[in-house]
Parts: sequence; C-alpha cells; structure tokens
Amino acid sequence: MDHFIYRGGALHAEDVPLTEIAAQVGTPFYCYSTATLERHFRLFEEALSPLPHLVCYSVKSNSNLAILKTLAALGAGMDVVSGGEYRRARAAGVPGERIVFSGVGKTREEMCLALEGGIRQFNVESVPEMQALSQVAQAMGVVAPMTLRVNPDVDARTHEKIATGRREDKFGVPIERAREIYAEAARLPGLRVVGVDVHIGSQLTELAPFEAAFSKVAELTRALRADGHTIERLDLGGGLGIPYAASNEVPPLPTEYGTMIKRVLGDLGCEIEIEPGRLISGNAGVLVASVIYVKEGEGRKFLILDAAMNDLVRPAMYNAWHDIVPIAEPAPGAVRDVFDVVGPVCETGDTFARGRPLAPLAEGDLVAFRSAGAYGAVMASEYNTRPLVPEVLVKGDHFAVIRARPTFDEILARDTIPPWV
Ligand SMILES: *Cc1c(COP(=O)(O)O)cnc(C)c1O
Repeated sequence: MDHFIYRGGALHAEDVPLTEIAAQVGTPFYCYSTATLERHFRLFEEALSPLPHLVCYSVKSNSNLAILKTLAALGAGMDVVSGGEYRRARAAGVPGERIVFSGVGKTREEMCLALEGGIRQFNVESVPEMQALSQVAQAMGVVAPMTLRVNPDVDARTHEKIATGRREDKFGVPIERAREIYAEAARLPGLRVVGVDVHIGSQLTELAPFEAAFSKVAELTRALRADGHTIERLDLGGGLGIPYAASNEVPPLPTEYGTMIKRVLGDLGCEIEIEPGRLISGNAGVLVASVIYVKEGEGRKFLILDAAMNDLVRPAMYNAWHDIVPIAEPAPGAVRDVFDVVGPVCETGDTFARGRPLAPLAEGDLVAFRSAGAYGAVMASEYNTRPLVPEVLVKGDHFAVIRARPTFDEILARDTIPPWV
C-alpha cells in the first residue's frame, strides 16, 4: 500500500496534487511520500517484535538526507556500503552505534572513518578484508566489532544482476569455510566477533530462499558457539521484494517474513538485524515526467517523455517493469492505446516499456512511474548533460524540494580546462 492515489481526477502524493509540484519544480522529478516510508519501516518493526532487533535501512536504495532523517526519527539503524553513505547516515543524525558497514571492497580509509566516528559492526566479506580491518583497528588502538558475511549458496530466484548468495557470486565467504575463518578472526588482535551476516539478493518474491539461507545461519551459529565464539547478533540482510506490476504475483509481507525469522532463528537468543531498502523506499516514490511528443513509428506509437534512462535506469539495466499511470485520471472505460514509452537519450536502451497499453496521452500530459523510490534517484546520472533529476518530499498537505535540479551553469562549472587547452 502507498499514498499515491487519485482524488478529484488527479493523482496525489498524500494530500498534494502532483500537478502542483510539477508546476513549481518542472519535470522530470522524483516525489516521495513520508507516510509511506514511515508505514513500511513500522511494518518491519512490528514484524520482528518482540525479538530484540534493529532495522537497518539500506541507504543505497535511496540515500537523500531528508529520507534518512525521516527514518532515523523513527529509530532506524542504517546499512551503508561506502564511506560516502556512512557520512550521509551520520549527517542525518544516526549515531555510529546504529550503523552497520557492508560491501566487498571497503578501503582502509573507509574503515578508519567508521572506527573514528563509531560503528556498530563491519560485515566483513573476505579474509584479506578481515586482516586489513584488524591492522587498521590495531593501529588506532581500538577493536573493530565484526560479523562475517557468509555465502550460503542459495539461489534467490531473482534477476541475475541482483542475486548475491550463490557460490559464483562475489559476495561473502563460502559458508563451509566460515568456521576456519572465524577461528582466524578470533586470533587477530584488532577484531571482536559479534555475529554472523548473510544477504542473498534483492527483489525476492518468495520466502523459501530466505528460509534456506537462515536455516544454514542457525546451524552455523550453533557450531560457532560450540567453537567458543560469542554470536550475539544475526544480520539477515535485506532483499524482500515489492509488487512492481499491479497485476503480478504478490511478494510475501513483512509480517510473514518476520514470522518465519522467529520460527527459524527465534530460539538462538540473538539480536536480529535486517537491512531492508527497496521495501521501505520503493513504493514510497514516483518519477513524474511529461510527454514531449507522441510519434507515429513503423507500426508502433512512441510516447517520448522528458525522463530518460539517466533518470531511472532500472528498465534499461534490469529489464524492470514500472507501472506507468497518467496524472489525470482516465475516464472509466477509456479505450487504451498501445505505446512504446521512451526517453530522449541517444540509446535504444532508453526504453521504459514496449507495447504498453495506456490511457490515451498527448503532448504536455504528465505521467508517473510508480514504485520508483528505490534504486531510482540514487542511480541517476547526467548522461547527455541532462541535469540530475530533482527530488521532492511530501508530508500531508505540504511538500519540499529535498534535492534541487542543478543549473546548467553549475553543471558546466564542474569541468575544468587545463592551461594547455
Ligand atoms: C542492497 C543491499 C541491501 C538492501 O536490499 P533491498 O533489496 O533493497 O532490501 C541490504 N544489504 C546489503 C548488504 C545490500 O547490498
């Protein structure tokens, strides 16, 4: 459920008509709903209660400071995958003790930054990273709290590019090697083992792969405790999928996910950490665009928008589906037209949808891509010197620009010309 609904014939974000934002900000723009963000975060809170837990929002799904601050105010922890995201979480007021640091390529500088600022734990993904972390911590005279990210060799049955828990993926260490690597961790002077970490992929639409992975984590936890390690936290990663197409199968609900976690891991006495991104931010955002032209092609009609693959790359990168809806509510029973929906960028990949039945649309009309709050604005670029798409946050009947569209002067001023040119 989200808070983007038609009222009086116009699509609203909560109590604000999207036309009003378009008139002030111009298109394209991203628009987020505070009520939806808060609702989704609370669903996870409720799903894990009464187990001791921390919901660490995955910053990479949508890292705008206003979004982070909104979630931090509800008590969210944060999962970061770079020094930049760590800085964002801190700037949003999240204490280091509520930030977990994931990622296969943490640099020594990033480790140092997080150790200085405070960090709940590093989710370590390899032996060389573990050795580097111990050295960095030792040099600083501190001890780094760590989990090891294990790769349970489970197929998440999701898109190829976002499956992360199979043997051939670059993430984590093979679970069969975990005991030997934990033994080495215990010998390294700069480290303190606090738990186990797993994350098998994104946009999962079934519980079974999660359950397979978490069962292996439960078994490993018992073995590690028998080996003498203190395993007090289990970080289960993110990955719960969202419905992108109104017509599609419905992914499991957070409450079903929580019930399964309690059944599989509840008796271990561990604090449970989860790292949801998409399920919190995805359906809390839309991308609003205008129709520039309707072009009659060879046996097809192209709807040419002022948004493009540089603003929302998911269709080009993952063949992802986004529902596209007109901002003006179509009359009931309006005959649909079939469009190829494209952007102005000079690449054939700049296609949002092929053969999509949509309400009749004409030049100047506004459309919204639904479920665009996660992996949308964060993946945007200025390809074709198209200014980085702005972001707007709605709360009730008011809205604010939370990242402005840069001017062309600002864009050009970022380049510098060497003296010999
Ligand atoms: C991307 C990522 C997440 C978030 O995944 P979602 O599918 O957005 O929930 C969580 N943890 C790690 C380690 C990730 O890389």
